[in-house]
Amino acid sequence: MNQHWKDEATEQAILADISLDEPWALLEEFSQLTRLSGSEDEARAARYITGKLDEWGISYQVHHPTTLISLPGPASLRTLGEGGREYRVKTTSFSPHTNGEEVTAELVYVPGQQAAGMTELFGEQRSAEGLDLRGKVVMTEGLGIAARGFDLAESGAVAALFINPGQNIHEGITTTTWGSPDLDSDGRTAPIPILTINHPDGQELVAKLNEGPVEVAFANQTDTGWRQIPVIVAEIPGNQFPEEFVLFHGHLDSWHVGIGDNATGDATLLELARVFHLHRDKLARSLRIAWWSGHSHGRYAGSTWYADEFALDLMANCVSHINCDSPGCRWATVYEGVSWMSEAEGFCQAVIRDVTGQDSSGEGHVLRAGDCSFNNLGVTTYFMLSSTMPEELLREKGYYPVGGCGGNIAWHTEDDTMEIADRDNLLRDMRVYATAVFRSLNAPIAPFDYRATVDELTAAVREYQDAAGDAFDFGESFAALEMLRGALDNFYSSLVVSEEGDVASLRRANAAQRAIGRTLVSLGYTRDGRFRQDPARAIPTLPDLAVARDLPNADEHTRHLIINSLVRGQNRLVWEVGQATQIATQAAR
Ligand SMILES: [Zn+2]
Repeated sequence: MNQHWKDEATEQAILADISLDEPWALLEEFSQLTRLSGSEDEARAARYITGKLDEWGISYQVHHPTTLISLPGPASLRTLGEGGREYRVKTTSFSPHTNGEEVTAELVYVPGQQAAGMTELFGEQRSAEGLDLRGKVVMTEGLGIAARGFDLAESGAVAALFINPGQNIHEGITTTTWGSPDLDSDGRTAPIPILTINHPDGQELVAKLNEGPVEVAFANQTDTGWRQIPVIVAEIPGNQFPEEFVLFHGHLDSWHVGIGDNATGDATLLELARVFHLHRDKLARSLRIAWWSGHSHGRYAGSTWYADEFALDLMANCVSHINCDSPGCRWATVYEGVSWMSEAEGFCQAVIRDVTGQDSSGEGHVLRAGDCSFNNLGVTTYFMLSSTMPEELLREKGYYPVGGCGGNIAWHTEDDTMEIADRDNLLRDMRVYATAVFRSLNAPIAPFDYRATVDELTAAVREYQDAAGDAFDFGESFAALEMLRGALDNFYSSLVVSEEGDVASLRRANAAQRAIGRTLVSLGYTRDGRFRQDPARAIPTLPDLAVARDLPNADEHTRHLIINSLVRGQNRLVWEVGQATQIATQAAR
């Protein structure tokens, strides 16, 4: 089967050439650089990478797109009246600001919960129904990332203060616009200033409120504007199918010196560029390696720019994209809740098992996070983050969920320094990435099984049918998906023959598989159309149909709205899945 293709000899030769020398030298260099998007330190980091590429004779381009970037400035908060004091606070990327002028308001506490897991970190549940928040500073729990300020703001609050779960205040970004905005996606930022405070200080303020009203004065600044950022793309051309390419990428920018997030990823990309270049005569497809800026301070602005600028090339020729964020971190020894799309699950698990001897588990549906900017185009992806700390160790250390650094809570703080990187873990993770990249480049048929994707979609429709009951009939969706499942069975059986076949028939089969993938990925993950970006918020499987979950509790008006949405969503599914079925059927002949 194509998911288990191997070329042991070449793979071992590649793995044997991976060393820690260059990666560790990069970490030492980057540990001196605060790589804010578009900054001079980041430009130095970019020059470090291109210097190495020059030295090794690897061809690359540096692009300088103009993107919307927001850098948090100073923020302050103090309590007024007797016993009042200054508190240490931060503000977020894309937070509205007071231009450094103090604003005085009453503090009010809306109890919430810290995110229970990675998924919730990017969610947005928070409601202050029934409370009069007009003119108040609203304090609640959370990291302040994603869109949690939204419904608080609609209630007339003047600022939101998020109590972080630990001793550190984590940096973050407060917009759901994915990448730089267009006319449709502009203005999805939080409409009021966002402040963040650590847990002990937050608790102190909660205690003060229990004693009586608390007045505070706050101020903040953010520097938001269009600026040039670097995007480095190296290319190692393939020999057999040079037009087909695997996109291997990670973010160059960071919060503070960001060693675990994401200097270790930058180092992995550079080391694998070196090693794959050494073995360039053995590569079937082309390898593109990209370092993006604008991830932390532009909501994935660099990768989104690339998705826009090279959209048609990506649509036609991109085999898959592999994100490299936070590998090789301290104590990160297991592969649990790893990001991969269903079609790549068997492939990824085989890679991890072959390299590490470990079993691994996926998170199910890839989160709308990371530099996963190619969903609308319909490109299959795997490995947003890599290894992570075991659950028991997280519990033992009393750690709360964070979105990188292998689970280390130094994530997005001043503490993400050299001690967060681990030599053994980095070497192991680089070998995992190298194996995944090599097999993706050289498997005669790209190593995916879209029957697993059809199964995921079918299971989602089943859930939505159960929720809808008699109010909506998903029969047409089930029928279309079943047809595609059958056509894919024939398609994959026909591949057993064509794997032995000539280059032209392999090229045709791969093109067919990519076209099927384009359909299923965009259907499964997006609503906003091929050449747009869905917002940065939790997106369920088949987002057009997920509103069925709301049917049981909807009032009559909303019920009609939902049914209309479902009719339109089902039409899209049946049409698109029908197209994929045709492609699979023709390719199997
Ligand atoms: Zn990251």
